[in-house]
Amino acid sequence: MADDPILLAARTALSEFQMPDGTPFLDASQVTGPVVSNGRISVSISTTAKAAASLADIRSKAEAALRRIPGAQSAFVTLTNDAPEAPVLTAPQAAKPVLPDVRHVVAVASGKGGVGKSTTAVNLALGLRANGLKVGILDADIHGPSIPTLLALHGQPRMGKDRRLIPMQSNGISAMSMGLMVDAETAMVWRGPMVMSAITQMLSDVDWGALDVLIVDMPPGTGDAQLAIAQGTTLSGAVIVSTPQDLALIDARRGIAMFQKVDVPILGLIENMAHFTCTECGKEHALFGTGGAKAEAERLSVTFLGAVPLTMDLRAASDSGQPIVARDPEGPLGRLYIDMARALWANLTASSMTTQTHKKLQGA
Ligand code: ADP
Repeated sequence: MADDPILLAARTALSEFQMPDGTPFLDASQVTGPVVSNGRISVSISTTAKAAASLADIRSKAEAALRRIPGAQSAFVTLTNDAPEAPVLTAPQAAKPVLPDVRHVVAVASGKGGVGKSTTAVNLALGLRANGLKVGILDADIHGPSIPTLLALHGQPRMGKDRRLIPMQSNGISAMSMGLMVDAETAMVWRGPMVMSAITQMLSDVDWGALDVLIVDMPPGTGDAQLAIAQGTTLSGAVIVSTPQDLALIDARRGIAMFQKVDVPILGLIENMAHFTCTECGKEHALFGTGGAKAEAERLSVTFLGAVPLTMDLRAASDSGQPIVARDPEGPLGRLYIDMARALWANLTASSMTTQTHKKLQGA
């Protein structure tokens, strides 16, 4: 709506800015927006990888100005790359630590969707917390954000004093999801570089505080967006989730190769929906064959963290907004995730484990 007061305020705020060549910001052909939806303001500036650095300053200043608008729920000014080559922003972002108080950022990734990546990410995060660690989870699966459902997050994150967003709390972990920030329809049309740019801002513009581990629930697949996140967010490592089917394993292999290409260590492979435990007869049925992921992990010299069965319990717990580790930490599935989280942490800190952290784990 043209008479939306937030839109008018956004246009007024942006009229103060000029592009580096002197063109008024709102007249520049590269600028799309501002677009306002439910009080959320978005603007994109299309650029090339080369010119991105020269726009970084104006991007952040324009965003800050938009965030000061009374009534604005959020504001994102993103740089998007229309050139087919390299994703934008990776070099400048990678150069500085985005989250100085977060010890490790760990991606949970899968070569394709629907393999249980988000379920695994949430339960691993809760498993790390059960091991006495301070944990956050960032839902970067922009096109299919499921963390709000898994952790029963409602409403919108609040803005802190310094105008950084305060993550929500659930079951003892901090959580933030693109699903809380951007309408599904808006995010649907975002292309790789815009996704990357939004995620980078979700890291730096959220007051995560001091964390031992920040789990990033990655978008599924191995395209440009995934590669850009892997490059741009200073990851300590990645966990790959796969089902036993051959097809998923091929995708998992692609995922592993992608992280290796950008020197992100693979901290482990988790096989999900490995077998089905029949509630009637109590027997285990290997619906998709057995041992494929374990053998593959060995072949690739990647730690096999464990195999999670296909169970109604897990699905029911996830659907109810209380993941299995929170609902039943002492049960077989709860223990499985807590053990996998312990192995993950050991892998993560293999070279840098401090006495203090040892104490934390032993005290758990
Ligand atoms: P992804 O993030 O890979 O798209 P999700 O974690 O959203 O996958 O899982 C997809 C669906 O499968 C969800 O309904 C989830 O509850 C269910 N699911 C995941 N893992 C299991 C499992 N081991 N047993 C039963 N259901 C599962």
